[in-house]
Amino acid sequence: MANESNETAQIESVGPVILLGPPGAGKGTQSRQIVERYGIPQISTGDLLRDNVGRGTELGLAAKAIMARGELVPDELMYGIVATRLREADCRRGFVLDGFPRTAAQAGWLDAFLAKEVFDNQARNCPPVVIQLLVDYTQLLLRLTGRRSCPTCGRLYNIHSQPPLVDELCDVDGSKLTIREDDREEVISGRLAAYETQTRRVADYYRTQKRLVAINADRTMEEVTAQIFGVIDGHRIDEHCQDER
Ligand code: AMP
Ligand code: ZN
Repeated sequence: MANESNETAQIESVGPVILLGPPGAGKGTQSRQIVERYGIPQISTGDLLRDNVGRGTELGLAAKAIMARGELVPDELMYGIVATRLREADCRRGFVLDGFPRTAAQAGWLDAFLAKEVFDNQARNCPPVVIQLLVDYTQLLLRLTGRRSCPTCGRLYNIHSQPPLVDELCDVDGSKLTIREDDREEVISGRLAAYETQTRRVADYYRTQKRLVAINADRTMEEVTAQIFGVIDGHRIDEHCQDER
């Protein structure tokens, strides 16, 4: 008897899902949709690291200064926390990785890890489904650099899409609008460029193996979500997901 697709999504193994995309692409929003529909956890390595920093663990102490500089924590330090987290019971049916892998070496390590660890029967040996959210960089830059706020009343503007009536002045009280420190163009473009360089190597790794699915993320949230669900549903019955051992 056929299950309702929602029910099926809850029962069956989903396997590993990896979302790639720059800050502002909607990764967080889409991860939440996946978590809700498939009942698998979202695993953010940034969150795991911040938790370690907060608890003052050995890893946290080692990672703190590196993270503060916005640099990548060495691969060898990442493997331990990722392995520990993925071995937890809630990951057996699958999981969404957010922020990992960030280097080609991490992607290779993840493949080796998934091949030798026993997850749920159907998720075992199942290579991750890798979804890349493609966004127009010019649009992304405009969206992020255009943000302004009023220091007096807190009202938000975007000089490109929602400009004030008078240049750089608040409509309500005429205060001079301000830019958040991390919204400054030189900071944003640096962050985006660094992200692109890193992600490109990870994307290349998966593309070479014909495992990268690119999705146009310059659409409504609902349209992007529907596409992602389609990719995950298709992947689960894919021949790659058979246990080949
Ligand atoms: P995020 O919250 O994903 O932006 O991550 C915050 C910081 O944690 C990054 O700037 C890195 O310093 C570190 N980090 C997160 N994930 C990784 C990873 N996969 N490899 C190396 N460093 C990472
Ligand atoms: Zn104001």
